[in-house]
Amino acid sequence: MSALLMHICCAPDATIGYERLCEKADVTGFFYNPNIEPLKEYELRESEARKLANLLNVNYIEGLPDRDTWQKITTGLENEPERGERCRRCIAHSLEITALKALELNIPSFATTLTASPHKDVKFIHQAGIEIAERLGIEYLPETLRKNDGFKRSIELSKKYNLYRQNYCGCRWSKKESR
Ligand code: SF4
Repeated sequence: MSALLMHICCAPDATIGYERLCEKADVTGFFYNPNIEPLKEYELRESEARKLANLLNVNYIEGLPDRDTWQKITTGLENEPERGERCRRCIAHSLEITALKALELNIPSFATTLTASPHKDVKFIHQAGIEIAERLGIEYLPETLRKNDGFKRSIELSKKYNLYRQNYCGCRWSKKESR
């Protein structure tokens, strides 16, 4: 089985990621989320992703969040709606860092759990993943995890593993919108 680096946006979405992708590859989970604020929330989501990996006995890495770059690429886009240009830059950044980490670790392919969410623009995620993969010389697996009741299954698995489920995407603007 070949190796795959799975970008993890949160533990609930990672449940379905591990369930589906571990059938196809030797998966290492990669939590990379410089978008999550405040720090306490970041730490909670990261510890839940780590807990899940321990429960499932899979490899897990936390990517150091590059908050400065994230701030730079999203500056001026504060009023964009969710799924707009701010989100496109945020998502493309996480995918690019995942691809670079995979290359560093000699892992030949990458994927993302972002596609488990019904709120995300999956078409954009796959386009960005493919573009990054072609540019960097690596493989992107365009797996749409929410398909075939994937999101529903992620809720069941999150309950089974007693995982924290957040009520906003991650950045301060999504937190404000959720209110
Ligand atoms: S709403 Fe989510 S995807 Fe969009 S910029 Fe904020 S954290 Fe990133």
